[in-house]
Amino acid sequence: MNTDEVRACMAVAAAIDPTMPAADDDVVAVWAAMLDDVPGKIGASAVHWYYRSDAYRDHKRTITPADIFGYYKRQANDWREKQKAKEIIAAERAIEAAPRELPSIHGLFARFQAEKRGQDPDMAEADASARRFVMTVTCPYCKAQPGQQCTTITGRVLARELAHPKRIEVAHAHI
Ligand SMILES: [Zn+2]
Repeated sequence: MNTDEVRACMAVAAAIDPTMPAADDDVVAVWAAMLDDVPGKIGASAVHWYYRSDAYRDHKRTITPADIFGYYKRQANDWREKQKAKEIIAAERAIEAAPRELPSIHGLFARFQAEKRGQDPDMAEADASARRFVMTVTCPYCKAQPGQQCTTITGRVLARELAHPKRIEVAHAHI
């Protein structure tokens, strides 16, 4: 804070606190020297904060440069903590966004369906990939072509099982 900023800051304090010393040149020079490394814009908010604090309510002591510096230090710490938190969040997001195994649309859909039904999405995804694996071969039982799901005699898609057991055997034999 320069001398002008100190004067402005002391004027704010004087408006609140009748015991505030007059801002004569010597006092201003001392304050400015002590608050040399504190940004000027901190001044007024430090005064407001100080005169609203519980500490002031208790002891009614006139503000000093130490109070302003203390406020600034706390603000700077808060700001650094927030920055750190932001960096941690950004790092976590970057890790999450990093391409792991490319999720297949089938797997995602299976997860989505499972979550809707309150089932375990990991299991559902595993099921979906097992089904895709089995569906790479033709079913010897119902003749479902690669990419098609097994169907019953009446033409309905098998819901409970992944595929006909014969097809699963054939798929495994192809590994
Ligand atoms: Zn089949």
